[in-house]
Amino acid sequence: MIDNHKNLAINKNNNHYQFYERVMKYSKQRELILKTLQENVIHPTADEIYNIARQEMPSLSLATVYRNLNQLAENNVIRKIESLDGSVHFDHNLCNHYHFICTQCHKVYDVPYDVAPDLADKVLAKTGLLVENFDISFKGICQNCKKFN
Ligand SMILES: [Zn+2]
Ligand SMILES: [Zn+2]
Repeated sequence: MIDNHKNLAINKNNNHYQFYERVMKYSKQRELILKTLQENVIHPTADEIYNIARQEMPSLSLATVYRNLNQLAENNVIRKIESLDGSVHFDHNLCNHYHFICTQCHKVYDVPYDVAPDLADKVLAKTGLLVENFDISFKGICQNCKKFN
């Protein structure tokens, strides 16, 4: 029983995950929610995660999905992205990166960190403000939507 959940394909090398595992009581629902998020790297919303995860666990409720996603985000196991229409997307990728939100299809894309790796240093140099983390999203039209215009 104790080691059952170790089999799930979750990134255990993630420091935040190890921290979370120590402080939060193990829950089967939460493991499934995390696994679903990791397997669907499209920055899904809570509703999308719910729709995928409940195929595996029909007893899962939307409220449980919301509660667990928020807890995981508060513990820095996952990241929350506020979108254009007020919807909230979730990201399993904790490595530094930026986002691009398409104003047409509202999809959230990753933008590699190396387009501007020294942004935090520049903020510190110019303003003396020390950046601890950031949530930077570009807005525009994605390649897919550009094709149809
Ligand atoms: Zn688009
Ligand atoms: Zn991302």
